[in-house]
Amino acid sequence: MIVILKHNPNREQLDSLITWLQEKGVVIHTSIGEANTILGLVGDTSKLDIDLIAALDIVQDVKRVQEPYKNANRKFHPEDTVIPVGNTQIGGGTLTIMAGPCSVESEEQVVAIAKAVKAGGATMLRGGAFKPRTSPYAFQGLGATGLEYLKVARQETGLPIVTELMDVTQLPLFQDVDVIQIGARNMQNFDLLKAVGHQEKPVMIKRGMSATYEEWLMSAEYVMASGNENVILCERGVRTFESYTRNTLDVAAIPVMRTLTHLPIIIDPSHATGKYWLVEPLARAAVAAGTDGLQIEVHNDPAHALCDGPQSLKPEVFAPLAGKLLRLHAFMKDLDNE
Ligand code: PEP
Ligand code: MN
Repeated sequence: MIVILKHNPNREQLDSLITWLQEKGVVIHTSIGEANTILGLVGDTSKLDIDLIAALDIVQDVKRVQEPYKNANRKFHPEDTVIPVGNTQIGGGTLTIMAGPCSVESEEQVVAIAKAVKAGGATMLRGGAFKPRTSPYAFQGLGATGLEYLKVARQETGLPIVTELMDVTQLPLFQDVDVIQIGARNMQNFDLLKAVGHQEKPVMIKRGMSATYEEWLMSAEYVMASGNENVILCERGVRTFESYTRNTLDVAAIPVMRTLTHLPIIIDPSHATGKYWLVEPLARAAVAAGTDGLQIEVHNDPAHALCDGPQSLKPEVFAPLAGKLLRLHAFMKDLDNE
């Protein structure tokens, strides 16, 4: 971090700034110029409040040269993180395909869809039991009962389950799920992030609809700083001026995250577009851009789905798509090895 001081800073204030910074454990290199004095702060500056320093009377400007996230930062952890989940893994050159309904509606529904997506090539089952809905009058999910149905579907198919946790109070019910999903609307629910950081299940953090890369990574940092290193990032479209699609898929997030972090990234083309016929082209784009996996909504009767029918694929559409995505993934690996 670089602190540029105003011309002729008050000596007392400067000394107290330097003492305060040293107490925080950073080493200070002072360089005195004609016009300005510059302090170069070396060490762990992630705990320093940049706005607080910038607001001091003697300070003209402060610049970060290091990212505020440490655990998630690729600089300090060059190898890709690989997360074992059940009989599969996320990251490490595999293509994870999470598929299933938006919401668990009944045992029959989730078991039938789980069997169909497993046969079609899915490696994990998704399904919401606790649902964040924009309208309080919309179907809110089956809650704890929905989690039980997901476990039945896992028992029947062997597919690990990924499902959304909305509130800290629900956490005891999630001890037996395989991946805890933090939804876009909760990406900055810091108490929730800390709580999932204090347990061991892998956590998939969906990007908030208007979150910057840094804010998203800081959410991952919350979980990791609390002790849980098994974090997965999921890009699910961000909100833009475009209203034709539900959101706008940020494909650039894949190579950007690859650079900034060692954590695996999953792309959700279903929530990114809101339209079933856009899922295939965007899933292909994501695989071509190097995603570690996809999360795709599949429903056996989209017309009657209680949530997100218009963006759900029928199993007979999902299966050939999954096959093509695996072939594309293998082809991309060949290209990379050329
Ligand atoms: C979901 O995956 O069911 C969901 C609600 O997604 P998001 O949080 O990305 O809107
Ligand atoms: Mn959905």
